[in-house]
Parts: sequence; structure tokens; C-alpha cells
Amino acid sequence: MTISQNSAVFFNYTLTDKDGNVLDQTPEGQSLAYLHGHNNIIPGLEKQLEGKSAGDKLTAIVNPAEAYGEHQPEAIHQVSRQQFQGVDEVEVGMQFHSQTENGQMMQISVVNVSDDTITIDANHPLAGKQLHFNVEIIEVRDATEEEIAHGHIHGQGGVQH
Ligand code: ZN
Repeated sequence: MTISQNSAVFFNYTLTDKDGNVLDQTPEGQSLAYLHGHNNIIPGLEKQLEGKSAGDKLTAIVNPAEAYGEHQPEAIHQVSRQQFQGVDEVEVGMQFHSQTENGQMMQISVVNVSDDTITIDANHPLAGKQLHFNVEIIEVRDATEEEIAHGHIHGQGGVQH
């Protein structure tokens, strides 16, 4: 069967940037499961998996607009060191999770540290990057009614609850 709305899809991938540096990959023997058509994965990848079936291999190239967005210079801020009270040592490269005013979770990276200010970058780490996914489709099945109601796949590779 082919991937279409409400398919449960299990796949392995290696994600690289356009220069071939590996950014992420599924661990050996652990496929990722997602529910097709429910925004479980980035839109540019989901679109290119449509119509594929188990055993298919493909390279999907996804531009930032259909992945994690463009890198926004205004998402880089200087904040006072006092805002990091409770953190013993603030270092470049540290990552924090923070909640925006409308409740969205976002990841913040420390990009510069001086005596009294800290520069943080609220861009997603993959923002502005063209993503190259090497994908192998492992299994495609119909999602259960419960999975469709929840908007995700249950069990190994999906949501366990
Ligand atoms: Zn669920």
C-alpha cells in the first residue's frame, strides 16, 4: 500500500545539510513512526513521502520554508546576565527551553557571553538550512481509529502511552 492520508508510516532516515554533514539519524533498528497528513513531521518531507511504499528509498531535499523556517536575525537577543540567575555557569553552546507568550515551546541557544550580557538565539537549530533526508520506508499500514483521533502513531517508534 502507498502512503496517503491517515497512513501509519515507519521509516529510517539520515539527515544531512547540503555539504553532507550528518545532523540527525534514526538509531540502528529503531524506525520513526508518524501519522501521514497530521503535521507530525515537517511539511516538505511529508509531501515527498506521499505515494511511496514499503521498501522505497529516496532522497528528499527540503528548503527552509518547508522545514524550520528562515534564520531570523531578530530572534537573536542580548539579555542581562541576571536573567540567568540560578544557572551556575553560562557557556556558549548551552541550550535552554523557554515558553513564548502564546505558550509555544522554543529552544534557545547561548551564542555569546560577556561580563554582564548574554546573547541568545531563539532560532531553531535547523532554521535557514536546506535539509537532505535519505529515507528508507520500512512499513506502511492503515492507522487505527484511536491513532487518527489522537493525531499520532502508537507503539514502537511512535508515542507510548
Ligand atoms: Zn495517543
